[in-house]
Amino acid sequence: MLNVPSQSFPAPRSQQRVASGGRSKVPLKQGRSLMDWIRLTKSGKDLTGLKGRLIEVTEEELKKHNKKDDCWICIRGFVYNVSPYMEYHPGGEDELMRAAGSDGTELFDQVHRWVNYESMLKECLVGRMAIKPAVLKDYREEEKKVLNGMLPKSQVTDTRAKEGPSYPSYDWFQTNSLVTIAIYTKQKGINLDSIIVDHQDDSFRAETIIKDCLYLIHIGLSHEVQEDFSVRVVESVGKIEIVLKKKENTSWDFLGHPLENHNSLIPRKDTGTEIVKPYTPVSGSLLSEFKEPVLPNNKYIYFLIKIYHTGLFTPELDRLQIGDFVSVSSPEGNFKISKFQELEDLFLLAAGTGFTPMVKILNYALTDIPSLRKVKLIFFNKTEDDIIWRSQLEKLAFKDKRLDVEFVLSAPISEWNGKQGHISPALLSEFLKRNLDKSKVLVCICGPVPFTEQGVRLLQDLNFSKNEIHSFTA
Ligand code: NAP
Repeated sequence: MLNVPSQSFPAPRSQQRVASGGRSKVPLKQGRSLMDWIRLTKSGKDLTGLKGRLIEVTEEELKKHNKKDDCWICIRGFVYNVSPYMEYHPGGEDELMRAAGSDGTELFDQVHRWVNYESMLKECLVGRMAIKPAVLKDYREEEKKVLNGMLPKSQVTDTRAKEGPSYPSYDWFQTNSLVTIAIYTKQKGINLDSIIVDHQDDSFRAETIIKDCLYLIHIGLSHEVQEDFSVRVVESVGKIEIVLKKKENTSWDFLGHPLENHNSLIPRKDTGTEIVKPYTPVSGSLLSEFKEPVLPNNKYIYFLIKIYHTGLFTPELDRLQIGDFVSVSSPEGNFKISKFQELEDLFLLAAGTGFTPMVKILNYALTDIPSLRKVKLIFFNKTEDDIIWRSQLEKLAFKDKRLDVEFVLSAPISEWNGKQGHISPALLSEFLKRNLDKSKVLVCICGPVPFTEQGVRLLQDLNFSKNEIHSFTA
């Protein structure tokens, strides 16, 4: 098993943390910008030294390539020769060298989880990690029962022919503590709403929509995993990664055995799956003059739901007609109103529909907390059109001097003169200023899981205590 350094990354005093310009930058030499890198990768130069050949890399071989001019790193089972990239890495050569000759998956996930490294390092791909010989032997003996990497899946009851370049496939990789199941949907634009993951005891099931079918992975896992897992999507290539946490840090020889309909495409109309998804109720509006007349017995619940057109669940909701039924559970969550007691500064960090929990918080804070001096909402979106309730927010900020709203866009048009980028140390230290040194503060954060996780890490780096941070997770 490959050893992954466990200390936090980047290290507390590393250049990545002290850099001021957004995420982890060190000065790059001239001619070493991202554009220069793209140019180099497209130049046809042999960047791996293998003349385009892909090889299977053993752990022993990987360990040998641990020098700056000969540096291989494994990410999710694939090995890259990153030496040519060293001088182009915005985080600096030393940070890359931390993973030299080893499995850098966990380090990578802590810093760059949303970076499309597959495309960035495509020309540096050396090959994939070899499965240990002992495992191959097991596999041949138990070919009909055992699921192991990309080996043929013979025990499968498909409803569709599996030939053709567009048939989805899956693979798995492991580190000491994690197992990643990667699903290659071969369909661009896939998003989190298209996936349902369910695991109970050792049974693991993942369904994803592929056009008019569901692609199903259904496995009896060979070892126990923890309850929580994460799902990541690389939209540009249609890859889904489901990361499971091992209960014990042992090496798995194989993933598990196939269960009913494993690795099959099933027409969607045949499935009849029940879907459950949490949504945060909002108010009818932020401003009282927009509010609908209060109806007897608080009979109405408002939801603000983004329809992902290629998704599994929200298009169904979108098709609902007046008079149709959906079942709604009783509320869940752990936010306590006592957090607001004596509160002076309230900071809200929201990304996309992660704005929804902030609606009621804003309403409540501005009307019911006499001690409140300042509320700052930093709202991250891709484009101006994605900003939910922009004009209401602007009107509310105009009406109530305690409220300050900052929109940050990740993909604005060139005319946008507001803030641009992603959540970063620079941005948070600019905006999250306490009114007084000792004022009572609460920071609420909600958005895509990696956004929220990164935000919490950055807040802790900025010395906000655990009690001062509340993260909403779906
Ligand atoms: P989105 O439009 O995809 O993203 C909103 C903004 O966040 C964009 O600027 C985006 O930048 C940025 N972003 C995305 N991933 C990031 C990352 N890893 N690091 C830094 N910035 C990142 O968001 P959405 O589709 O509305 O999704 C909102 C999420 O909030 C959903 O996952 C939903 O489940 C969650 N949510 C949770 C709750 C709750 O827990 N109670 C309530 C509501 C919503 P790019 O342009 O670079 O993608």
